[in-house]
Amino acid sequence: MPDFPKPGILFYDITTLLKDAAAFRALTDDLTARYQDARIDKVVGIESRGFIFGGVLAGRLGAGFVPVRKPGKLPADCFEVKYSLEYGSNTLAIHRDAIGSGERVLIVDDLLATGGTAEATISLVRQLGGDVVGLDFLVELKGLKGREKLAGYPVHSTILYS
Ligand code: IMP
Repeated sequence: MPDFPKPGILFYDITTLLKDAAAFRALTDDLTARYQDARIDKVVGIESRGFIFGGVLAGRLGAGFVPVRKPGKLPADCFEVKYSLEYGSNTLAIHRDAIGSGERVLIVDDLLATGGTAEATISLVRQLGGDVVGLDFLVELKGLKGREKLAGYPVHSTILYS
């Protein structure tokens, strides 16, 4: 979607996939098959579109679901991390008791762009003692080289744009 949410920005919109029952089913089947044997304890979904796949995937894997949110949205004690954007910065938060030491964690979101959001989420999970065993995105904008920020972690993206 061109010029959304601001003029000059090209927004990759996943709602067209979500509203298609067969496509959404195929996506969640594919995700489940990929992590079925990975012994995932917690699926971490990044606000807000990561909640959509993350919740379904956690249920299918028999894992717990943990939301990573913007500050001020989670009610209990949180750890926060601030990270830089091209212009300015963002903060993300996680409940301190969301993940136990040594738990195996999969991070999911709709889109990987510069990788800053995912990198910040890794640091939150690691602060809690979680073991990040992978990151999974529906869309990856390869040209923004987000994967380089996630070096050392297995990353899977279903749809790649150069
Ligand atoms: P990054 O931190 O630059 O990798 O940006 C990724 C984060 O921004 C994710 O949480 C995405 O949901 C969001 N995002 C960035 N660009 C888009 C887009 O074009 N469509 C949907 N989400 C986007």
